[in-house]
Amino acid sequence: MDFELTDGQRALQSATTAFARERLGRDTAGDDREERFPRADWQRCARHGVLGWPVPAEYGGSGLDPLSTMIALEALGYGCRDNGLVFAINNHLWGCAVYLLEHGSEEQKKRFLPAMCSGDLIGAQALSEPEAGSDVLALTTRARREGDRYVLDGEKWFISNGPVADLFVVFARTGDEGAPEDRLSAFLVPADLPGVRTVRQLSKLGLRSTPMGVVAFEGVSVPAANLLGTEGAGYQIFLSSIEWERSFMFAGHVGAMQRLLETSVDHVTSRRQFGRQIGSFQGVAHEIADMRIRLELARLMLYKVGWLKSRGRMALLEATITKIVASEGLARTAMAALEVHGARGYLADWQLERELRDALGGPIYAGANGIHRGVLAELMGLTGSLSGTVPARRPRPTRPTDAAAAATAGPTDGGRP
Ligand SMILES: Cc1cc2nc3c(=O)[nH]c(=O)nc-3n(C[C@H](O)[C@H](O)[C@H](O)COP(=O)(O)OP(=O)(O)OC[C@H]3O[C@@H](n4cnc5c(N)ncnc54)[C@H](O)[C@@H]3O)c2cc1C
Repeated sequence: MDFELTDGQRALQSATTAFARERLGRDTAGDDREERFPRADWQRCARHGVLGWPVPAEYGGSGLDPLSTMIALEALGYGCRDNGLVFAINNHLWGCAVYLLEHGSEEQKKRFLPAMCSGDLIGAQALSEPEAGSDVLALTTRARREGDRYVLDGEKWFISNGPVADLFVVFARTGDEGAPEDRLSAFLVPADLPGVRTVRQLSKLGLRSTPMGVVAFEGVSVPAANLLGTEGAGYQIFLSSIEWERSFMFAGHVGAMQRLLETSVDHVTSRRQFGRQIGSFQGVAHEIADMRIRLELARLMLYKVGWLKSRGRMALLEATITKIVASEGLARTAMAALEVHGARGYLADWQLERELRDALGGPIYAGANGIHRGVLAELMGLTGSLSGTVPARRPRPTRPTDAAAAATAGPTDGGRP
C-alpha cells in the first residue's frame, strides 16, 4: 500500500489550491448574505477545467482518474472558502454529469457533456419530492409515453442549482406494475422546455450561494431520446451513482476540515489569556487534536474510495462510511473552530458561523446519515432491506449494450464514472 501522492497529483493539488485561494470567493460573505449564485466564479472554475475534471477529453474534460479527481476536489474545498460554490459544482458533477458518464448514450454524452464542461450548461438532480425523501421509491412524478416522447408531470423539492440549472436529471414513475424497483426511469430534461419552471426559491441555513428551489414539471414533453438507459432502469441508475455521490461530493469537506484546523491553530497559538497562549491549555489543545483526528480519518476513507474506484472496484461500504465521517466530521470541526475562537467565532465578520451553517447540511443531503447507518447495518447482515436502498450486488445494467459488457467485465465498474 502506497500513501504517497504522485508528482502529478501534488502539482494538481497545489495548482488547485492556488487557483481557489486567489481567484474564487472574493465576496463569499456577500453571496451568503444575499443568497447569490457566484456566476463569475462558476465561469472561472469552468475555464480552469474544474467542471471537466472527471470527464474524458473526447467530451470536453480532462479525464482525470478517480483518485486524482478526489485530490483536486479536496484542494478546491481547502482553498475556496465559498462552500456553496463547491457544493454547486459537486451537484453539477455528481448529481448530473455522472449519470451521463455512466449511463448516457454516445449521442447524449456528445450533446450535453462539452457544454457542461465549459460551464454553459449547469446541471442539477431532481429526485426528492414532498413525500419522497429517504424513501426514493415513493416518488410520484409521472412520465407517460406518447409516441416518440414522454410527458412529465410532478414537482421536485430541495433541488440544488434548480433555479439556475439548464439541465435536470429527473427521476419519474413510468409504470405501476412489477417490482417497485422497476417502476422508475431517469430523464435528461433541458430547463428551457415548455412546462419546466422554478415555482419557489428556497431560503436555507447554509450553503446559501447554491440556489435551491422547488421545480415543477407541468406537461413537459421530452423526446424519448432523452431517456437515460432503458425505461424502468431509473432506480438502478440512481443506485449505481450513489458511490460517486457519497464520496466525491465530500472530498471538499476534507479540504474544509483542513482549512478550519489551520485557522484554529493560528488563533490558539496567537490568542493569549492568563498570560499564556490559549492553545497551551489542555482543554483547547484536545479540541485541536480531535480536529486533526477527524481530518486524518476522513481523508483515509476518502482516498480508499478513490483508490478502489481507480481500480474499477465497487466501494459501497467505503463510500457510505466516507459520507458519514466527512459530513459529521466537518460539522463537529466547524463547531469546535467556532468555540476556540470565543466571541470572535460568533461574529459574522469572522465567517466561522457561516462555516458551521454550511457544514450542517452534509449529514442530510446525498442521503440522510440515518439511512446510511442502516445501509451499513444491512451490508453487515444485521438488518433487512430498507425498501431496496442497498444494492447488495452490483446494480443491474441499464442499457442493452451494458448487459453484454457486464457479462465479461467481472466485479469491476471500469474505473471511471
Ligand atoms: C442542502 C441540501 C441539498 C439538497 N439537494 C438536493 C438535490 O439537489 N436534489 C434532490 O433531489 N434532493 C436534494 N436534497 C434533499 C435530500 O436528498 C433529502 O433531504 C434527503 O434524502 C432526506 O430526505 P428528507 O429531507 O425528506 O428527510 P426524511 O426522509 O423525512 O428523513 C427525516 C429523518 O428521518 C430519518 N429516517 C427516515 N427514514 C429512516 C429509516 N428508514 N431509518 C433511519 N432513519 C430514517 C432520516 O435519517 C432523517 O434524519 C437536498 C437536501 C439538502 C439539505
